Amino acid sequence: MPTNRTFTMIKPDAVADGFTGPIIQQIEAAGFKIIALKKVQLSSEEAGKFYAVHAERPFFQSLCDYMCSGAIIPMVLEKENAVEDFRTLIGATNPAQAAEGTIRKQFARSLESNAIHGSDSDENAAIEGAFFFTEKELA
Ligand code: GDP
Ligand code: MG
Repeated sequence: MPTNRTFTMIKPDAVADGFTGPIIQQIEAAGFKIIALKKVQLSSEEAGKFYAVHAERPFFQSLCDYMCSGAIIPMVLEKENAVEDFRTLIGATNPAQAAEGTIRKQFARSLESNAIHGSDSDENAAIEGAFFFTEKELA
């Protein structure tokens, strides 16, 4: 995956709260092009694989339960400086600390149920995109 791509998912809280439309609108308005998009529900095992880096954290099981509690919308996005610009657009992990106007500030419920994911590096963007999409779907 080229370095001008990032990976995101609208998380179960935001999908259930009916924020899919407004969130996608803000993503596109910020200049990101949607390369791939689908709606899926993770199994507990799949959520654990996706968040394996957090396996030793005390919130890991709760995070996996949350992430498989309902539908999510994974997407691959393209824009210059995509990874960094997208992290800015979504705001801090804890919505209480997220800047005004960010997606998490507007749409998240809590630190865990924080509406949206954004990859933290080009390398992880490629790995996470490949977790959900085939090469053909990313073409
Ligand atoms: P992100 O890169 O901003 O999504 O944050 P992290 O990679 O640190 O954490 C992954 C996800 O785990 C976050 O987006 C939250 O959904 C959840 N999370 C992070 N920290 C905590 C925490 O302290 N408690 C709980 N319950 N969930 C957390
Ligand atoms: Mg992270």
